[in-house]
Amino acid sequence: METSVTLERALELASQSPLPRETEEVGLDDAHGRLLAADLASKVDDPRFDNSAMDGWAVREADCAEPGATLRIVGTSQAGSSDIPAVGAGEACSIMTGAPLPEGADAIVMVEDSSTEGDSVTISGPARPGYIRRRGENLREGEPALTAGTVLTPAAVSLAATMGHSAIEVVRRPRVAVIGVGDELTQPGQPLGDGAIYESNTYGIASLVTRMGGEPVRHEAIHDSIDLLRETLDEAAEGCDAILTSGGVSMGKWDIVRSIMEEEGEVSFWRVQMRPGGPPLFGTWRGKPIFGLPGNPVSSHVVFTVLVAPWMASCMGADAETGPRLANRVRVVMQEPLRGAESKLCMRRISISQEGDSLVGTTSTHQGSGNIHSMVAHNGLSLLPPGTDSQEGDTIDALWLV
Ligand code: AMP
Ligand code: MG
Repeated sequence: METSVTLERALELASQSPLPRETEEVGLDDAHGRLLAADLASKVDDPRFDNSAMDGWAVREADCAEPGATLRIVGTSQAGSSDIPAVGAGEACSIMTGAPLPEGADAIVMVEDSSTEGDSVTISGPARPGYIRRRGENLREGEPALTAGTVLTPAAVSLAATMGHSAIEVVRRPRVAVIGVGDELTQPGQPLGDGAIYESNTYGIASLVTRMGGEPVRHEAIHDSIDLLRETLDEAAEGCDAILTSGGVSMGKWDIVRSIMEEEGEVSFWRVQMRPGGPPLFGTWRGKPIFGLPGNPVSSHVVFTVLVAPWMASCMGADAETGPRLANRVRVVMQEPLRGAESKLCMRRISISQEGDSLVGTTSTHQGSGNIHSMVAHNGLSLLPPGTDSQEGDTIDALWLV
């Protein structure tokens, strides 16, 4: 077991006990938000054929060189038609947006630039080849337009359909157990006894698991009982790919997650040089990776953001740019001094906003690691290296939460 490791070392050690990466096929209706498991190539050219970008007339550009040209109407091409008349010299074919370009035509006149009388049309505006959408100009058949490790956004789902895929191979959502530990914890909605507080962490952590593309299995919080904890961990290890606990990992007498892990589990590291969130623990329980997250609500949230989320993303094969993530790394000009922490990476809650050409950071609410409101009132975390403070006007690294 290593103790007091850097965040980088913690990530390295955690990567030695990965989540299994399995794949499954989902239909397009269920594809949104899923992580693409393999490159997806187009089954067709897009567009499939030359077609019009405008409602108007398919013509020969040369026929419309002079304003006021009158052309003979030979028929209509509408979206979905297959029997389309060719356009010869002095002729025009009525055409709708997306309809195939008639043979012989090489330009489109917008309907607004025309007037019809009987079977002829008079052209009063430009005939533009640019109004033709050319076969394959967006995508060529065989082109891998979506790459493995990408989260399927609404546009990506639409693109997959455009490319002719009805089902998509995605990474199976890892099942992640979420367990809260503490005698004081009471379900929201229930009456609070003396010394009791509402249990909040498992709800937040389960939501974070979902955001990262996992399937949370949230357990009701349990009391500070070793036997109960062992039973719950066993059940979680049985049915899940990984386990997250919250609470009970510090130095206190009742920090039972730490003690049971030391005695009956495998601990890879305990404590990370970061604030908030110093006491996390990582190891395996019955062979399943387990993170013991701190009980303080901000700490558990921050540790998930900088440690669990990147671990999950990397286990799932996510792309750094287009995969799931909770934050983007940015450079921020601080508008007020920020105190760092001795020998710890200091992640204070900051509000990041755009001002002119740069991102600026401010702080407002107080920074206690028990104050989950500070995570809602701010949208970023400072990344102050150990033993450094920042002065007003300093540019610092930060995470902009997404
Ligand atoms: P612990 O790590 O168990 O010492 O808990 C540290 C602090 O976090 C204490 O103030 C706990 O009451 C609080 N806490 C622990 N677990 C939760 C939870 N699931 N929801 C809300 N607060 C918690
Ligand atoms: Mg506790």
